[in-house]
Amino acid sequence: MNFTSSVSAVEDDALEESPVSAQIQFCNVTKMYGTVTAVNDLCLAVRRGEFLTILGPSGSGKTTALMLLAGFESPTRGEIFIAGNSVAAVPSYRRDQGIVFQSYALFPHLTVRQNLEFPLEMRGMVAADRAKRVERMLERVHLKDFGTRMPSQLSGGQQQRVALARALIADPPFLLLDEPLGALDRNLREQMQLEMKNLHKEFGITTICVTHDQEEALTLSDRIVVMNAGRIEQIGTPEALYDRPATRFVASFLGEANILENPGFKVEFEGTPPSGTVPMIRPERVRITAPATPQRAESNQRQSVSGIVQDMIYAGPLRKYHVRAGNSVLVVREHLASGQQVFQPGDEVSIDWLNTDIRFVVA
Ligand code: ADP
Ligand code: MG
Repeated sequence: MNFTSSVSAVEDDALEESPVSAQIQFCNVTKMYGTVTAVNDLCLAVRRGEFLTILGPSGSGKTTALMLLAGFESPTRGEIFIAGNSVAAVPSYRRDQGIVFQSYALFPHLTVRQNLEFPLEMRGMVAADRAKRVERMLERVHLKDFGTRMPSQLSGGQQQRVALARALIADPPFLLLDEPLGALDRNLREQMQLEMKNLHKEFGITTICVTHDQEEALTLSDRIVVMNAGRIEQIGTPEALYDRPATRFVASFLGEANILENPGFKVEFEGTPPSGTVPMIRPERVRITAPATPQRAESNQRQSVSGIVQDMIYAGPLRKYHVRAGNSVLVVREHLASGQQVFQPGDEVSIDWLNTDIRFVVA
């Protein structure tokens, strides 16, 4: 296993991309609000056609990064390039982007059709062409029968679909989304995630989406940028970030992580861990069994530790345990299958995992 690659804070090729091959590039962009550094030395290359998600907790600088790209704010330092050209002097209305921000809600006094026509009107398209374009778009987003409705007569999901349609209708070179599904309930969110994914596939449009929702990021993205306190922690595909998080922050923000820092037992692993890192294992990589099941204990590729169940949480398709072992409490996640032994708080158990499932994250 290659440990060096798993701890580089950002993807190797992301920084080497030239401004020309990347559609959008942030070069050492910093944004200060008074003494608050909202975005701190951001370097990021967005590839043509990709769905890139900026993921981070509230206050990590996601919206600010998007506002800088949209031209609603200017960098304190650094520069942004679109198709190889600096946009420092380009006002936001000349950047042609499609936008779905919460502050960019639908015009409440206009019908769906009029909402969609608006960006085309702004660009000086003649009425007949506008009408054609709007009808086609309504069909593409499955809102054919809703053209005459007012926004208040639509469900949250339908409103969001209109907002997306309005952002896409003028064929923008890229699409900016800020927490686009934030206001929707869970079922609708999942449905809209699928729809957004399909729309992205169909339109092939470069999309930058900001969210604090890890599930949304994992579902939608070609690549995810994890931000923390104005800085990028790591960039990569959803699989890469989940399987090889570089830092403790990424490991814990994207999924759940058992950080084995001074756990009270010796952690076995292969290779040499990079300095400044701690071992980590994902809850679903840990197995829980009755104590001392012989075939488990004998394997030299698996480490087995005895523990005591503290809690058992039944969560639909899976069961989650908290197991005290050494001086740590590990989370164990098990998908429900028939014939599984169920453990209760106080039970003595054995937990074990493959040595190769141990990851090292920057502490
Ligand atoms: P996120 O979208 O990740 O929640 P923001 O980009 O909105 O984060 O904010 C990043 C930081 O910058 C926060 O500390 C926030 O309070 C601050 N900030 C954002 N916008 C402004 C502003 N207009 N004036 C002052 N501080 C701001
Ligand atoms: Mg925000």
